[in-house]
Amino acid sequence: MEQTLLITSSAAQDIMTAARQCDVETGGILAGLPYAMVVVAAGKPGPGSVQAPTQFTSDPAEDKHCLYQAKEQLGRAITAVGWWHKHPGKFSRPSSPDVSQAHCLALEYGDGIPVLVGIVNRERSPTRTKTFLAMYGVDRDGTLKTVPWEQVNDNHPSIQEALRKAPCQPEVCSEGYWNKDDFVFYQNPVGRKRITQELAQLKQAGWSVTTSRRKQDRLLMITAVRSDIKSTLILPPEYPLNPPLIYQHNKPVYPEILCRWSSLYSLHAILDSLSCNTPQTRDRS
Ligand SMILES: [Zn+2]
Repeated sequence: MEQTLLITSSAAQDIMTAARQCDVETGGILAGLPYAMVVVAAGKPGPGSVQAPTQFTSDPAEDKHCLYQAKEQLGRAITAVGWWHKHPGKFSRPSSPDVSQAHCLALEYGDGIPVLVGIVNRERSPTRTKTFLAMYGVDRDGTLKTVPWEQVNDNHPSIQEALRKAPCQPEVCSEGYWNKDDFVFYQNPVGRKRITQELAQLKQAGWSVTTSRRKQDRLLMITAVRSDIKSTLILPPEYPLNPPLIYQHNKPVYPEILCRWSSLYSLHAILDSLSCNTPQTRDRS
């Protein structure tokens, strides 16, 4: 059976109020706990959003602000679980651009959890206007599914339990995080997992691997030895977004793979390319 999404009263109220206050399309972020299927906060459109009769584009600054506030109030585990927006008339299903956008995000997050899409409609009758919220999920395959949801009190035991049990999410910051002193990708759970896997891959390929920290800046240093080849890789805090610095015989080396670096490459791929070709060494300018 499909798991019912729980939306707190305050989040549902914020959506309904924002939808009633705007005649055209409007919307905002949905913050919550993806694994527990819980939404605890809903964002407003924000000054940077585009609100038109048949279009809504959210304001990243407002989304960020909503997420920050929810994290401050309810814990670091809160993360973006999707977006809501209002549709004109009775058009209550997500449009194909809505689905493609959610699909891109589902692929980007890569955690297998569907991205939620909330659609709000207002139905006018001669006596009153009703506001409805329908919830959908878009998964990694781009499949759109209706998500049954239920409004619960903010202090509902299921919400409290979900908040208590939620695993902490790694910090996600969209701009300039690599300049922050406290940001080290391989010190958060996702980065650590990747490094552990990469080290195991190197050992499996016959490399003798030792890890240490560089004295002056505590950066992660990996020394890999196989046959008569010894390489030292120094990982920048943002690895694998940027490649490591590589040294052989105390000189930096620049294998060709670094010129087309992407986070899909690995330390193993670098060392492999170094053992296939004799790399060009050059002094640092
Ligand atoms: Zn839409």
